Amino acid sequence: MGQIELKGVTKRFGEAEVIPPLDLTINDGEFVVFVGPSGCGKSTLLRLIAGLEDTSAGRIEIDGVDATGLEPAKRGLAMVFQSYALYPHMSVRKNIAFPLKMAGLPQAEIDAKVNGAAEVLNLTSYLERRPGQLSGGQRQRVAIGRAIVRSPGAFLFDEPLSNLDAALRVNMRLEISELHQTLKTTMIYVTHDQVEAMTMADKIVVLQAGRIEQVGSPLELYRTPRNRFVAGFIGSPKMNFIGGAEAAKHGAHEIGIRPEHTAVSATEGLWQGKVSVSEHLGSDTFLHVSTEHGLLNVRTSGEVSFHHGDTVYLTPDMANLHRFGADGLAVR
Ligand code: ADP
Ligand code: MG
Repeated sequence: MGQIELKGVTKRFGEAEVIPPLDLTINDGEFVVFVGPSGCGKSTLLRLIAGLEDTSAGRIEIDGVDATGLEPAKRGLAMVFQSYALYPHMSVRKNIAFPLKMAGLPQAEIDAKVNGAAEVLNLTSYLERRPGQLSGGQRQRVAIGRAIVRSPGAFLFDEPLSNLDAALRVNMRLEISELHQTLKTTMIYVTHDQVEAMTMADKIVVLQAGRIEQVGSPLELYRTPRNRFVAGFIGSPKMNFIGGAEAAKHGAHEIGIRPEHTAVSATEGLWQGKVSVSEHLGSDTFLHVSTEHGLLNVRTSGEVSFHHGDTVYLTPDMANLHRFGADGLAVR
């Protein structure tokens, strides 16, 4: 089981209230991602759940039981650290077995659990190696293995992929998603990378300054952001925002239109502009177009070829127009 409930959970460091009272329910088996800019309190929130930080106020329940004052080892949760937390002088087997050894389990039981975890993680043939003899991805799997053997109620990940190169990050993302499908255990995953959040999460929790801006599935956040912050944070390239008279025409303080919801033409359209930069990715082309409404980003097909200085016309897809009030909240 791994149901986690936060009720009015608050964290202050001295005078600074880093997490104002916060409520959140994480259901058993869910893959939940905490995402937000650096310094917004993601790690603090995860550490509060893990018991590595004390709450200043509020209550944390795990499977319906008050765990607020419980020490980390008694919460039945496993934190997955970045792979550099492995012991370099120990074999993979010993690294994975370490928490079980500390807990004083019989050797036969340790062996069975380590072999089981190694199989799930495709590490069976690497068990006698040392971390230094493994690739970055394999090392990260060993770090995960160390959590798996404890059969935790939930896995807690704090930016586990941030020191891997881009290609490896994509691989590990898939592996962790597959692992979740295999184990069906609750996972809480912290990242500042909205692409990781979108691709991995059942449920995304968007944080800013310790506050929850929105909770929802990736597509809910993409389609119906609650406010301007979520609208600008989720989606890549980022949503364009236009204020002034153009927004007023649509009954809004500001309108938002995503780069992929804007058509571009050489001959006709709603807004005239000049191509400032054209980025060719092969599959897509990203155009940065200078218009009377500012610099607007457009995502178009990889076949489209515009160049710096070309005159283009942009037309937003009105069905996908977002409207925001002066308070930043979405108007529906
Ligand atoms: P994130 O993981 O989202 O980048 P953190 O949870 O690490 O953010 O930090 C949130 C805020 O809390 C930051 O302003 C940070 O400086 C502050 N903070 C974190 N840990 C401590 C601490 N031990 N003492 C004082 N301030 C802290
Ligand atoms: Mg952090």
